[in-house]
This record gives sequence, C-alpha cells and structure tokens, in this order.
Amino acid sequence: MSLHPSTLALHELLAGATTSVQTTANAENHSQPRPGGSVDLERIQNAVREILAAVGENPEREGLLETPARVARMYAEVFAGLHLDPAVHLQKTFTQKHDEMVLVKEIAFSSCCEHHLLPFTGQAHIAYLPDGKVVGLSKLARVVEVIARRPQVQERMTEDLADLIMRELNPRGVGVILEASHSCMTIRGVRKPGAMTITSALRGLFRSNPTTRSELMSLVFGASRS
Ligand SMILES: [Zn+2]
Repeated sequence: MSLHPSTLALHELLAGATTSVQTTANAENHSQPRPGGSVDLERIQNAVREILAAVGENPEREGLLETPARVARMYAEVFAGLHLDPAVHLQKTFTQKHDEMVLVKEIAFSSCCEHHLLPFTGQAHIAYLPDGKVVGLSKLARVVEVIARRPQVQERMTEDLADLIMRELNPRGVGVILEASHSCMTIRGVRKPGAMTITSALRGLFRSNPTTRSELMSLVFGASRS
C-alpha cells in the first residue's frame, strides 16, 4: 500500500525494518490467549511502591497511599485481554449471500505500548470480503477490544487482527487499518503531538487485487488518498 508521505508518522520511520521483523516473529506467541491466567495485584502494588520510591517520592505520603492499589486495578483492566481469547467472538456466523465488502470504520480503541507502558489511542477500520459467512458487526469491535487490551505494538495488533479474522471467518480477503496517536511520542522522546501512526495488514484479495485495495482505501480515507 502506498500512503502519501505526509501521513507516515515519524514513529514509523524511526521504527524501521527491525520492528517489522520482530513483529512477524512474535505474532504467533502473542495471538495465543492465556486462559485461566490472572493478574497478581499485590505484586503490581509492590512494584509501584518501588517505582515511587525510586523516582524520589514518598510512597507513604497521603496522596500516594492508595496509588499502588489503584494502579494495580488499572493494569488488570488495561491488560485484561491477555487472559481472553478474541476468537470466541467470531464463532457465531450467519450464512449470507452478500459477497461485497463489509467495512466497519472508526472503531475507537485504546491500547498500551509495550515499550513504554504508555497508552496509544486511535481508530481501527476493518474490512472483509465474505465467502458465504458473515459475522455480527459488533463482533469486530469486540475483537479489537480484546486484542487492544494487551501490551502491544501497533504493527502487531494490526497483523493479529487480520490473521484472526482470516483464520476464523475464512473470507476471500481481510483489510485492517489502524490509525493511532502514541503518547510515548507525544509526552516524551521526540514530543510530537498530533503525529499519527498508520498501519495496515492486507490479506487475500485486498493484497492481490489493486481494485479491491483502492476501494478500501477510498472508503476509509476518502478518494483523494486512494
Ligand atoms: Zn512506546
């Protein structure tokens, strides 16, 4: 896919080829759910107290007393997807003759960058070309929700979504586009608020057929960027 250079975020340029290699290598491990796993809240609390002490704070002062417990509950929520299997949301399908593109645009998500444990937030656009089998539209949003709630890199999240839908629905093609703003880029490091990182993962006809691909791009970005 060729995006206009101005839509490429600095983050992507800096990330370079190494990131995409790691992304591919790790994709399989991370798409495996860890059912039955749980979050050790007390362990997080102890760690947060340590961080506070290490940065020169007093974890015993009034304003910080409840912070470790709060942060522990926050991580349990933000990383809840580690213990869930997104595939369960794609099990119930309907037989449908519709063979044109199904696109759900602007699915809001927030995830947590695994390099800094800072949030990245944005929108997912998910398209597929059914092969006689469709899934409830809200299920695509559910899948985004589960996969986002893990320590992530946007590149892998994009690939995991595409591979999961391809595997579970067996469509003729899948196109996933994610646009996100990374707070590890806006509040630290290069401090570039407003930079958007755009990633895409195309499978089947979205990859092999330029017409299908450009139809998706113009539906998502508007005709001028197709
Ligand atoms: Zn980061």
